Amino acid sequence: MSITQNIQYFNQLLENTPCRLIAVTKTKPVAMLQEAYEAGCKQFGENRVQEMMEKYEQLPGDIDWHLIGHLQTNKVKYIAPFVRLIHSIDSLKLLQEVNKQGAKYNRVIECLLQIYIAQEETKFGLSFEEAEALLQSPEAAQLANIRIVGLMGMATLTDSREQIRREFRGLKQFFEQLKTKTLPANTEMKELSMGMSGDYQLALQEGSTLIRVGSSIFGTR
Ligand SMILES: *Cc1c(COP(=O)(O)O)cnc(C)c1O
Repeated sequence: MSITQNIQYFNQLLENTPCRLIAVTKTKPVAMLQEAYEAGCKQFGENRVQEMMEKYEQLPGDIDWHLIGHLQTNKVKYIAPFVRLIHSIDSLKLLQEVNKQGAKYNRVIECLLQIYIAQEETKFGLSFEEAEALLQSPEAAQLANIRIVGLMGMATLTDSREQIRREFRGLKQFFEQLKTKTLPANTEMKELSMGMSGDYQLALQEGSTLIRVGSSIFGTR
């Protein structure tokens, strides 16, 4: 299957659903992104700042760039002028830096809190308790140049479909719980970023609004 055919497959799959595709383009050459763009895909996800900047400079201006990987505070300044959504906020300090850089460019930068749902030591993210504390903190509430629009999570890399489903379901439940609470004005729980090549079907069933798919579109890395 070509990149064009793969994009068409996902467009059809997501038609009439509340979920949208983010094509994860990390490590892939610009020519491949160009093909995806011409097939109608304008939401790209990258996990490294430097790589995202280089691709941003070479590709059309109407692409939405999603930062999906771990973000260091000292790199926020490079993506602040153009990034569409940061999926990987995992501390107040990072959120404050995004706010500071957003202010410099007179932007309100949309962010997701990355929630730790996997049974693995290697994944970044906040626990449910930490996320809720961050959302309710006066420090976060006063940030005028960010907007927290939802949550992101990565399931455990496992063959157990039940475990993956359980992790996604838990994240969705937390997301729904948060919606019932009084949250600061700069917060709106509307996006749930979950699902990758290996588990996007489960994520769709469990209520994802943004699937992040790389290898199923562009081939293995
Ligand atoms: C690489 C990556 C993806 C996409 O992974 P695939 O298995 O290639 O679909 C999704 N989300 C994050 C955070 C990633 O780093």
